[in-house]
Amino acid sequence: SFRGAERLGRIKPSPSTAAAARVRELKAAGRRILDLTVGEPDFDTPDHIKLAAIAAIQAGETKYTPVNGTPRLRQAILGALRRTHGIEYSDAEIAVGGGGKQVIFLALMATVDPGDEVLIPAPYWVSYPDMVRANEGTPVIVQTSAESGYKLTAEQLEAAITDRTTWLILNSPGNPSGAIHTPDELEALAAVLRRHPAVSVLSDEIYSEISFTGSPAPSLAAVAPDLRHRVLVVSGVSKSYAMTGWRLGYAAGDPVLVGAINTLQSQTSSCPSSISQAAAAAALDGPQDFLAESVPVYRERRDAAVAGLAAVDGLTPLVPDGAFYLYVDCAALIGRTTPDGRVLGSDEDVTLHLLDHAGVAVIQGSAYGRSPFFRISFATDIDTITSAIDAIAEAVGDLR
Ligand code: PLP
Repeated sequence: SFRGAERLGRIKPSPSTAAAARVRELKAAGRRILDLTVGEPDFDTPDHIKLAAIAAIQAGETKYTPVNGTPRLRQAILGALRRTHGIEYSDAEIAVGGGGKQVIFLALMATVDPGDEVLIPAPYWVSYPDMVRANEGTPVIVQTSAESGYKLTAEQLEAAITDRTTWLILNSPGNPSGAIHTPDELEALAAVLRRHPAVSVLSDEIYSEISFTGSPAPSLAAVAPDLRHRVLVVSGVSKSYAMTGWRLGYAAGDPVLVGAINTLQSQTSSCPSSISQAAAAAALDGPQDFLAESVPVYRERRDAAVAGLAAVDGLTPLVPDGAFYLYVDCAALIGRTTPDGRVLGSDEDVTLHLLDHAGVAVIQGSAYGRSPFFRISFATDIDTITSAIDAIAEAVGDLR
């Protein structure tokens, strides 16, 4: 019989995948479910990107590539980093992988020894703690507060650092909060980091261009160039270019760390798909109209969703500056009673109530390390969003 390795016992499947499975089950049983759990753009991959992939296939670009990607892709990544942050990286500072997710995993695998601590501000993307555990590190969750817009402050960072701290994971714009660290806030964190030279920063910037502030989210690597070698910038094409299924992400940072990631990559998947690399290169150095068109659409949906939810007694949505999620404070619903007599004791109960009584699927805040909240995704059409919010309002109104 199957006996899993010890490291397997430390982790669980992603809660977002579990939520998606529950929605599929209910739909298969004939229920109409408005699904606000999805973490991927509802847009199609732009045509010029698809055509670049088709051209690559026809040109025979169907073989292994260098571990760190084709020269064409690396040039496109260097160009994208220059465009969004004004940072000049060199070829030896770039690693590529099957999504930002794989690159983050390999970065942790390359650096974390048993007992090493990785600071993860909450609310956090669900995968960070389990990726740290899978690599035998210790996730240290740092709670943020409403006063700072659920962003890590310099004081919180200083208090959390120990002599075992290896990494700080910073995710801006954040999933699920949508919060963007301003240059001043990043500079305050940099001041703390300068006092702790052993701490590196994994800056997950996968949503950096889905920003409602008028410019891409700033990067610590650009704000504090003196720390650049301690910052691993991670990004990818999944979210910005509606390319989640192509599985292409990248990292930029210290060449020694990047070399270690590449060594692990050479022993895991050798390289990401050559076809996806051609598509990603076209996304990064081709026309950027898709971003110019999609970001205002996300922003309209955000505004509609924030207005709708803020009008519901008992719900307080955080207004996101970027990404496509709304994190909704539902503390006021805890203790209320459903029409069938169940008392809501947690954000999981709230989520189940919304699923049962409103037919709306959202993800409970406990998955993101901050309760009681729930996350809705607005990477879906406006009709679904408005119908879902009406249904949520009704289901909340039915509570006593
Ligand atoms: N980082 C964050 C914060 C995310 O939300 C996601 C996807 O949900 C990823 C990284 C991974 O993206 P991908 O592996 O598709 O590049």
